[in-house]
Amino acid sequence: MTPPKNENNNEDEKKLIRRAYRRLLRSIKVKLSPKEKENIRKAYDLAVEAHSKQRRKSGEPYILHPIEVARICVEEVGLGPTAVVSALLHDVVEDTDVSLQDIHEKFGEKIAMIVDGLTKFKNLFDVESPQAENFRKVLRTMAKDVRVVLIKMADRLHNMRTLGSMPPHKQLKIASETTYIYAPLAHRLGLYNLKTEFQDLCMKILYPEEYKFVVEKLEDTERERNQYINEFIKPLKDKLNRIGTPYRIFGRPKSISSIYNKVKKKGVEFEQIYDLFAIRIIADCPPETEKLICWQIYTIVTEANTPIPERLKDWVSTPKANGYESLHTTVVGPGGRFVEVQIRSERMDEIAEKGFAAHYKYKGVKQQNDHFGIWLDNIREMLENPSTDAIEFMSDFKSNLFAEEMFLFTPKGDMKILPKGATALDFAFSIHSEVGYHCKSVKVNNALVPLGHVLKSGDQVTVVTSKTQKPNENWLKLCVTGKARSKIRSSLKEEKRRKGEIGKETLMRKLKNVKADFEQSVDVLVKFFGFQSRPDLYYEISIDNINIQQELKKFRVEGGKLIFIEIEKKVQKKEGGSKPTTRSRRTFKGEPKLMIDDQPAEQFKYELASCCNPVQGDQVFAFTTSGGGMKIHRTTCVNAEHMMANYAYRMLRAEWVDTANTDFVATLVITGQDKKGLVNKLTKIISEQLNLNMRSISMDADIGGSYFKGTVKIVVNNKDQLNQAILTLKAMDGVNSVHRES
Ligand code: MN
Repeated sequence: MTPPKNENNNEDEKKLIRRAYRRLLRSIKVKLSPKEKENIRKAYDLAVEAHSKQRRKSGEPYILHPIEVARICVEEVGLGPTAVVSALLHDVVEDTDVSLQDIHEKFGEKIAMIVDGLTKFKNLFDVESPQAENFRKVLRTMAKDVRVVLIKMADRLHNMRTLGSMPPHKQLKIASETTYIYAPLAHRLGLYNLKTEFQDLCMKILYPEEYKFVVEKLEDTERERNQYINEFIKPLKDKLNRIGTPYRIFGRPKSISSIYNKVKKKGVEFEQIYDLFAIRIIADCPPETEKLICWQIYTIVTEANTPIPERLKDWVSTPKANGYESLHTTVVGPGGRFVEVQIRSERMDEIAEKGFAAHYKYKGVKQQNDHFGIWLDNIREMLENPSTDAIEFMSDFKSNLFAEEMFLFTPKGDMKILPKGATALDFAFSIHSEVGYHCKSVKVNNALVPLGHVLKSGDQVTVVTSKTQKPNENWLKLCVTGKARSKIRSSLKEEKRRKGEIGKETLMRKLKNVKADFEQSVDVLVKFFGFQSRPDLYYEISIDNINIQQELKKFRVEGGKLIFIEIEKKVQKKEGGSKPTTRSRRTFKGEPKLMIDDQPAEQFKYELASCCNPVQGDQVFAFTTSGGGMKIHRTTCVNAEHMMANYAYRMLRAEWVDTANTDFVATLVITGQDKKGLVNKLTKIISEQLNLNMRSISMDADIGGSYFKGTVKIVVNNKDQLNQAILTLKAMDGVNSVHRES
């Protein structure tokens, strides 16, 4: 039995809870009706009672979480009383005895619907990717009320802010999921602040070293930066005052993750990044004059500092698809430094910061294309397709998050809106799924084009259909919209199911031959190959991707059931003629160096993934491949996010346990000035000074004048050796940057 709670402690906690609640109430700036007040109080009382026995991982009383989520909804997302009530109740149905029915009775239909949307599926069994299915559910409710997804965002934000008390592998999973879907969705909904914070919090977990590096650099340079900002702002103030409109002007640091992305993408050092901050000027003016005043401010800024014309971004005349309005320019500031300046009105600023919620608040301001409405319609359509599986749905949905729209016309002059990058085939599906299925050819502005032709805004598109035409696998490469892709997939799935029948018959026959019972054995094989379902296995057999007769030799039969004889050890031998490249397909002899799920890796069939080439010392995880073996990936692998977010159930923990001498090949990307003899020098340093073997070196000289970019593959034993090599090469004369390829 647990000892009775310390009375004092209990009192302190109660105080803490009440304080959090009062803070929430203070954050609500709109005037509440008596009914709204009562509802919030009722929701609070119910949640306090329902969660009274629960604690968060950090040890805090659980109720602090829903209270904080409600506060985020109000203060950071800009939502109102309905959202507060829903947020307070968002975990009640999932975690406690309170039922949806209770909520319905106490708070009515609307709140019950929102809370239901926020309640996760109970997964008694760890079914495959419940996360993706949960997310689809959130979106389904979102189609009815957008607040569901906005509250979900607030919920995720608070969980991310308090992630520190979770065990590391959970942190990785949650962070991956956040980068994969929540950050892009926040972007699409115009919740820029949330998006940025998501990205920074994720980076802190996924790339801790890099995060620390940027934070420290920013701290080191803060004073100098502030001085510069003041120097830039000072001469502008007088002229801005003369416009006669109240305004705010200040410097705003860019986010950690965006700075780091620049370091990575452009291959430059921190010191070379000029836009560590942006100057923002916000004018407080009525909607009728805001455009005029923005351009007036633009003139003042660019008269004082030379603008770089190609850097002008005018989202004041044509707002972004997610509602963002702002005027951006980059100018040459004091000392020849490039400075980004963002100009907007207070209204535009609120939309930029709070996105969706603010957008609706100002909806009456001017007649604009209801981008959100169109977007939501698209999602509704995708959701109507019941056969798409959750993971495919997620990736289709995700691919449409960042897109901007373009306008297209049918021969009759009807307008269709599709995301930028959409193809002729996408257009066919946008008319009707039957038109898509039977799309034979497409004419754009009267000229015949391939189905994968990328359309441009303003195109007039004619689709020709034929009864005999039907989708094939290749079509998935010819379209980008979620709608077309999910329709094609469901049609292919039907085809696959038909073929699978043949594979199933083959399998039944072969199992009978070895005297194995079908029902007892089939799932053993599904698991062995790492498939998600029986039909997948049938299909692969039907198209001869699996030679089932050959594979069955790896099993013996006991009481009708298949038993795996021995774990395949000689990966290399099996690969046979395909001549595996040593870097990705290695076998390990002798002492265990890698542990998978706390067991020596030798017990599994595994390979080091060739996408990220892990070396000893890297943070890694194991991933079950569809072929039945394991692949070891770095946690920072570009594919990791997708795998962790969608297939967490296929992941196993993996770690390096000692540092015996094993070779790994790592790829380094080096940039610098194209000096004579540099390759020679590089080779020498690597082989003589560092005493490392080199696999290959390739130089991409002459990308632009005297600049070069090269790729070097070196053989190292562990991460320390690799870091040493990077430092040494960085120090070379003529070398600008050295990065490990990720
Ligand atoms: Mn929650």
